[in-house]
Amino acid sequence: MKAGLGLAVLVGVGLASATGQHAAAQAAEARAGESQTVVRDDWAVDTVLADMSAAKKAEEEKAAAEKAAAEAAAAEEARLAALPWTLPSDARITSYYGMRDGRLHGGTDFGDFEGEEIWSVGEGTVSYVGYEPGGYGNVVYIDHGDGIQTRYAHASKVLVKVGDKVAKGETVILAGNTGGSRGPHLHFEVLIGGKKVDSLAWLEKQGLNPG
Ligand SMILES: [Zn+2]
Repeated sequence: MKAGLGLAVLVGVGLASATGQHAAAQAAEARAGESQTVVRDDWAVDTVLADMSAAKKAEEEKAAAEKAAAEAAAAEEARLAALPWTLPSDARITSYYGMRDGRLHGGTDFGDFEGEEIWSVGEGTVSYVGYEPGGYGNVVYIDHGDGIQTRYAHASKVLVKVGDKVAKGETVILAGNTGGSRGPHLHFEVLIGGKKVDSLAWLEKQGLNPG
């Protein structure tokens, strides 16, 4: 009985041992498979995380750029508001001051459409309102003091009269095509001491960014 039991125990141990070895091998195999899977999963997770991180970073960079642009725009708006002068129009420039067909084009042309509002570039007093068929058409002169005068020509409509005090940015005419004009636009002049100067260069010198 004792021996039998011993044998049974030995066999049992042997079986257990064999089973144990088999299980260990299976486990190792499983681990190998598992570890392969885990490696792939880790790689995929890393890739996904990296993509997400890159997307998040790009989003953050975009948001930061938008914030910076908004801040720059606000700062520029504040800077322009603090200047004593403004643009007469935000339309793009279609013709510059300079010699044209042997004659001086004494102003800057802005490509305003018929009826668009044109603003006084600074505080001043309306010194002349007239109609000149071959030239300015309906025109307004504004005296800003210190020998500075501005002129706004080819108006479809004049909204001020001589003697009116105007503020910087106040609408003085509506753009048009009157006088010697081929298509609606604003012809804008600056005179200093009675002499026409390059009005675009003058605007830029005041810190403005004409279009
Ligand atoms: Zn012109």
